[in-house]
Amino acid sequence: TEQTLVLIKPDGVQRGLVGEVIARIERKGLRLAALELRDVTVEVAGEHYAEHAERPFYGSLLEFITSGPIVAAVVEGPRAIAAFRQLAGGTDPVEKATPGTIRGDFALETQFNIVHGSDSPESAAREIALWFPSLNS
Ligand code: ATP
Repeated sequence: TEQTLVLIKPDGVQRGLVGEVIARIERKGLRLAALELRDVTVEVAGEHYAEHAERPFYGSLLEFITSGPIVAAVVEGPRAIAAFRQLAGGTDPVEKATPGTIRGDFALETQFNIVHGSDSPESAAREIALWFPSLNS
């Protein structure tokens, strides 16, 4: 089995999509290994998106991610990383995500794309350690 770090970003929480996102995760057959609603510090957000530090949207991305509570989850199952990215759809919710995916169904703008999911086993290990330091997997 594999684990992935899922975030429901502030737009998803604010718009009342937590149940919708979790329902899709569960219906897919993935399991919740950890789940928490929490406020995000700029330190954790900056670490999480460190690979984007030089990108022009980094500042507004950090401002957005820290703008309200998020839901952080560890999701597990066979091929959980790819499986959740399939559920999420592509980063751009109009040009890349297709209808039937979380982003394709609920989002319009790339920054406000509802969810995050780890993109590789290395990212998943790093992100799970960052968001759930007390969890040993
Ligand atoms: P995530 O890492 O959140 O799952 P992703 O892997 O699909 O998303 P990345 O390219 O890693 O996409 O970008 C990380 C996040 O930064 C995106 O989910 C989005 O919120 C934001 N982002 C990416 N590109 C842009 C952009 N051009 N303008 C504004 N925000 C962007």
